[in-house]
This record gives sequence, structure tokens and C-alpha cells, in this order.
Amino acid sequence: MMPSFARIAVNVPSLTGEFDYHLPPHLEGKLGAGHLVTVPFGKQTVQGVVLEFVAEPSVADTKPVLALLDSLPVLTTAQIALAHWLAKETLSPLAACIGLMLPSGLGQQADVLYQVTDKKSLTADSQPSMIHRRLVDLLREKGSLRGRQIDRHFKNVDWRKTAQFLTRSGVVTSRSILPPPSVRSKFIRTAQLCVPLEVAETSMPGLGKTAETLSRRQAALRFLMREPADVNVSWIYAESGCNLADLQELAERELIVLRETEIWRDPLEKIGDQKSGNQGPGSQELGGQGLTLTVEQGEALNQILQAFQPRSLKALKPHHPFLLHGVTGSGKTEIYLRAAQEAIRHGKEVIILVPEIALTPQTVRRFLARFPGQVGLVHSRLSDGERYDTWRRARLGQLKVIIGPRSALFTPLPNPGFIAVDECHDGSYHQSEPPFYSAVSAALAYARMCGAVCVLGSATPSIVQRYQAFSPQEAQAAESFRLLELPKRIINLGMPSVQVVDMRAELKSGNRGIFSQALVGALDEVLKKDQQAILFLNRRGTATYVFCRECGQALKCPRCDSPLTYHVEGQTSNVEKLTYDLRCHRCGYTRQLPKKCPVCEGDQIRQYGLGSEKVEAEVAALFPLARVLRWDWETTRQKDSHEIILSHFTAHRADVLIGTQMLAKGLDLPLVTLVGIVLADVGLNLPDPFSAERTFDVLTQVAGRAGRSSLGGRVILQTFQPEHYVIQAAAGHDYPAFYARELDYRRQLGYPPFNRLMRMEYRHVQATKAESEARKLAVKLAQWIESEDRRETTIIGPAPCFFSRLNGLYRWQIILRGPNPASLLRDKNLGDWRLEVDPLSLL
Ligand code: ADP
Ligand code: ZN
Repeated sequence: MMPSFARIAVNVPSLTGEFDYHLPPHLEGKLGAGHLVTVPFGKQTVQGVVLEFVAEPSVADTKPVLALLDSLPVLTTAQIALAHWLAKETLSPLAACIGLMLPSGLGQQADVLYQVTDKKSLTADSQPSMIHRRLVDLLREKGSLRGRQIDRHFKNVDWRKTAQFLTRSGVVTSRSILPPPSVRSKFIRTAQLCVPLEVAETSMPGLGKTAETLSRRQAALRFLMREPADVNVSWIYAESGCNLADLQELAERELIVLRETEIWRDPLEKIGDQKSGNQGPGSQELGGQGLTLTVEQGEALNQILQAFQPRSLKALKPHHPFLLHGVTGSGKTEIYLRAAQEAIRHGKEVIILVPEIALTPQTVRRFLARFPGQVGLVHSRLSDGERYDTWRRARLGQLKVIIGPRSALFTPLPNPGFIAVDECHDGSYHQSEPPFYSAVSAALAYARMCGAVCVLGSATPSIVQRYQAFSPQEAQAAESFRLLELPKRIINLGMPSVQVVDMRAELKSGNRGIFSQALVGALDEVLKKDQQAILFLNRRGTATYVFCRECGQALKCPRCDSPLTYHVEGQTSNVEKLTYDLRCHRCGYTRQLPKKCPVCEGDQIRQYGLGSEKVEAEVAALFPLARVLRWDWETTRQKDSHEIILSHFTAHRADVLIGTQMLAKGLDLPLVTLVGIVLADVGLNLPDPFSAERTFDVLTQVAGRAGRSSLGGRVILQTFQPEHYVIQAAAGHDYPAFYARELDYRRQLGYPPFNRLMRMEYRHVQATKAESEARKLAVKLAQWIESEDRRETTIIGPAPCFFSRLNGLYRWQIILRGPNPASLLRDKNLGDWRLEVDPLSLL
């Protein structure tokens, strides 16, 4: 007999469990894994997704599945497997992981439907209250309404108590229901003439009673007489001034037919309309399969294509993913395009993950040109409707390529054959809110589950990623990557030269400005030649970075050598009472800002605070004629502002672009011949083991924005610590040097890749509560480590987080370090603790 109980992940926030239900006769044979259903849960009706069928239910007394909400599964079997994997790896509730995969609007919560009964009247109640009367009248008028609909009629009035009373007294019935998904596909209406022209002509005089309706309908009909095909009604409205009622009248007289056609909303319409520009080498071959690959590209692609071959019994090795390590402009995207083609040739679909769609328009355009009509975009600024349509088209196999940020991984493709993660080191692949997960790890797991070929690509793979990569012959362990390298740029100009400018010397020579002599000179030259410059500001941790302007040293904690950070305490309204101090976030050491530098005794200790407004003002003062664009969080709050700023700049309507982290995400700006890094060391001195890596990445990526065309390019890097290994390696485009040094440091301290980390964070309005909870858990953790004999796992903390307050909440954290620290916490209920496996930052 078929196992006949459905195991269902119930969509109740924060619920970990799966529950078993039986199938009522009307659903027998209709239900499969991945179906979206409604089930009773407590007193409610809630949504859930069928995970599997079991012969033996986990409880004796099962309830029935109520209804099937969509005849097609909302999750594929591979997605269900991925959700289980995510839940286990990230210690998150299964429902939350499934929630990542359903488009918003499908995941509606249950509501209550109210209806008036016929039998009872108000007279039974001697003195009905105002609310009472209004509610009954409303329901009588509308027939029935859901709670959320009634809310709209009763602003700030508690009508629910009254509704309960009315239900009890039999005036009103209520039952739990699930509202239909709020997203609906979009229809367009079309019209078409359906009689011979002569018939239409003879009907003209009698088309309306008033002169006005007559002329409108005549105009509409004349327009349709000229247009033999189906026409979108909005054209007809525009041409004739008629409205829908007029067209309905014409249809009534059987002169025209009105049709409704479902259209798929296409979020790409906008991008497609933009001029693709003609400045870059990229634009010549937007459509171009015609390119001849370079030797390096050819070798890398060959390896990847081999992975598409059905594996022979002999070569039945685990399916290793690839790490494509190639400098910016080395032709990685071209390789993704060819691999995608191969997957499609095999009848499969493709997922391309990028850090942020708005920042990679060139990549999107190249895919659009190569696979016209087959590309779907997923990103955060789509409307629910747009997202829903893309989701459905993907589910039906109508889209062959999905491009988007981390959430695009969860598109329900029937048979993914190729998954690429571009800029795979990028922090945006890590979801920084629960459920915390890494889309890179998830992509690797998903590819394994689907048997898809997976390529991670970057100019600066993370230390952990690079550590796992071996030459294709050597890759053995199941989790290792096959390394493919593209060491050279396609346009053979080499990498842009980087000039390191020592800002201490500038200071000594009397220059107290933001810009060094060298940078001012270079800017001047670029502007004279009518080329473009980028000025990069590393904003992270800006205001808290304290250092000596004479020797360049950041102030460190005397007890644990971790960088001290600057804090202002008190109310800004009471300036007298403000205290300024320096703090260690590892051990809690505090001191006042010293007058003299403890290293060189200089008296130029400053905290560093520099915003893009200030840089903008300085450029304006030095070069009054330069057209300057600012690109930071301030100027990009509005929808589409990234696109607008970028298209302005690429169209050369500005000469200088001042920007922050967004500049480091793979932009292709051919006219840029100068990149100025205003201060490279900010971010290096944060109390976080990953700060060196992040700074190296960002510097390398930003430097890579220069010299993307035959115009060539240079980089000027300003720093107070020119001898620092991160600065040296970034200036020399020397990933191997950085990697060797950083790996050494990680090994000494036992940080990833030599151990894994687990971050536990507690937030509370009261600082003391956050602290006491943290101390309590630390004690428990120590006991678990002891009793489970896991001495290789160590506890760091508890300590306040670097950003010790967020949205009015105090933050404390505990870090676990060990071979598999998450496993210590599995199946232990930690309540309000935020658990982050493999965190990207400990700030
Ligand atoms: P990456 O993704 O590594 O930054 P791209 O794939 O964008 O590199 O390539 C950089 C530029 O070189 C693009 O403009 C691309 O169109 C062009 N390009 C890539 N491969 C070739 C090739 N084999 N021959 C000529 N131009 C190429
Ligand atoms: Zn300390």
C-alpha cells in the first residue's frame, strides 16, 4: 500500500517541526511532495508544504489536510532536500528555510472570514452599540469579509471583541481561512475587428446616442479597421479617446472581439531599453559567439565542459566544483556564458549569482544578448507581481537562465545544470539576518543535489575558498575545488600600476589636505585629457579608527593587542557631559584618548572621520570645472538610483565618481583611467580576524576598475601604513603574497580555514540583561564542551560586540572556535540567541 500520511512543514514562524496529516478522500491521489496545502493547526488554518509521505504517522490521531492551494508543486524535490540541508547546517527552523524559497505573497498567514447569518436580527439585542451596528451593516453590505479587510473599515477601533460577541450570539459566523495569494498574474486586454470593413463602415452612424460617445466609438472602430491584428486596448484609448465601456459596447454589437491575454511581467524591459553604450570592448561582442577564446580561457572552459559529460563508470569520482580564479577583465564572464550554453544544449537550466544586479548591468546585458527571451532576473527591487511571474515561468521551464543575487538560487528550476557564483568572495552572499546562510555554500550543496556543474569565480577568492582549491588532478577530497586560473587580462595591457603614497610624508611636508600632491596631479591630468576618475572611500568603521598621523600606528590594547576603538558616550545635547574614550572589544580595557602616541610620542593622534561630502567639497575646491557625482548610501536611497548614477557616469556626463563599497563590485567602466584610494588603511584596524581579508579584497577590486580599456590606467593609493602587508600585496596585485601571509596568521590563531567559527549573539534593551544572558550561556557552553569531551572547541568571549548597540538594543556575543562548533548546539534550544554558522565578520 502507498504510504498515505503527508509529512508537512507548517508555515508558522519559528516553528521547527514537521507534522503528519492524513488525506481526505477528495485529495487522495492528488497530492505530491512540494505541494502547497492548508492544514488545521491548533485553532487556526495555516499553510504548509508537503515534504514526503510516510506509512506510519508520528501521532496516532492525525488531522486531515484541508485543501490543495496550487495544482503544481511550489518546491521541487531538490529544493526540499536543499531546505533540509540549510536547516541542518545553519541551525535554522525548516519553515524559515522553506520561506526563503517561496515568493512573498504565497506565504500569507491565515485569516478569519466573517459572515452574517440570516436568522438573527439586531432587535434581539436591546441597545446595539455603534460598533455592533456598523459591523453588521458592513457584513450585510459586502456578504462576507476577512479580518484584514474589516480592519480597513475600522481604523483604530477594536471591532474583534464585538465580532466575538456576535459570533457567540449567533448573528455572525466566523471560520479560519487562507486568503488567496495576493499576487496575481497580469492580464492585458486586446481588441480586434471581426467584421468585413464594409459592415463596420455601415454601422458607423448608429454607434451612439450623444455626439460625444458617437465620435469616440467611431474613432475606435476606425482605428481597428486600420489595424488587422489584435491591439492592446491602451493604444486604442490613446488613439481615439474611448474607454473600456465603449469597446464593450462595440463588442456587444459584434463588431469587434475583446480578449484578455495573460502577459508575463518582464522586469528586463527597462534594462533592454537602455542603450548599451558603445565604449567598451564588451559591447562589440554582446551577441558574439564569434570570439576566439584565449589559450587560458580555452583550457579552463575545457575542464568545465568535461564535467558536463555523463561520467563513465571508470571516472566515477565525486563531482568537484570549480574555483575560477582570474584577475578582473580576464574573461571569466565569457566562460560562464559558454558553460551556460552547454547546459542549455543538454536541456538544462542555468543559475548565475551576482552580488547585486544593479551593479552588474554589463553582465546582465551580455546574458540577455546571448540568450534572448530566455533570461529571468531576480532581485530585491522587483514588485511581488514581477517576482511571482518570474518564479512561475521558471517553474514551468520557460526560463533557461536565472540571474540574480543570493535569493536567485532558490528559483524553482526543473533541472538546473549549471550554477555560477560570480565574485564568490563577496559578503553579500551571506545573509546577515536569520536564517543566516551563505548562498555560496548553499549553491555548492544544491549543485551536488541536482548533479549540476558549479563554478565559483573571483579575482580575490576568500582565504577559505582558495585553501580548498587544488589543481584538477590533485582535487581529491569531496569538498575540494578544482582550481582554474586566468592570470592575465584579455586586453593585454597588464594590470594598472599602483603608486603607494605615504601620507605621513605628506603631512611632514606641510600638506594637511585629503589629497596628496600625486593624486592632485593625476586628477588634473585626467581632467585635461577628458577622461574619468574614481575616488574611493572605505567607509567601514571610519569614525572609530584611531591612529597617529605621524607614525601611522593604530592604537592597540596593551593587554591583547587588538585595535582600540573610539567611543563617545552620553547625550549629544549635553556636550559638557560627553566622555571620549578608547575601548578594547576583546577584553574590555578602556582608556582615555592619549595626548601623545605611545609608539613615537607624536602629538597628532586623531580619529579618522571622512565622508564623501567632504571629498566632494575638496574636489570642487581644487577643480571647480570638474563634474562630480557622489555615489554613496545617501545618494542611492531611491529606487533605481544605482542605475541612474551609473548610466550618467558611463555616458560621461560626469568626470569624477566618488563612491564607497559599491565601487568594488565588478563594474566595467572603460573611460576610467585613474582610481584614487583616498585612505587605504581604514578597515584594516578593526577588531575582527577577517578585516585584513576584507580590506585586501576591496582594494584589489577597486584598483581593478582602472585601465579597463586601451586608454590604460593607474591607481594612487594613499595610506599611513605603506609597509603593511595588505597594502603591499594590494599595490602589487599580488594575491599569492597576501594569501601566504594571511594563511599563516590564520594558522597561528586557529581561525578559518583551520577551524570553523560559530557566532552567538544576544540582543536586549537592557545592557545588564544582555551581559548576564551571555555570561550564563558561556557557563553552559563550557559544561557542554566538557561533558561531550570536545576540548578542541574553544570559547571566545563573552564580550560586547564591536557595534555594541543596534536599533536601541545592546549586543553581546560569544564565539565558538573548533572543527565543527555548530554541532555542539544542534538539538539544544537556545531561545532568543541568534546563531550564525561560519560568520563573515565578528564586529
Ligand atoms: P571578467 O569577467 O573576468 O572581468 P570579462 O569576461 O568581462 O572578464 O572579459 C573582459 C573583457 O574582455 C570583456 O569586455 C569581454 O567582452 C572581453 N573578452 C572576453 N573574452 C574575450 C576573448 N576571448 N577575446 C576578446 N575579448 C574578450
Ligand atoms: Zn584588550
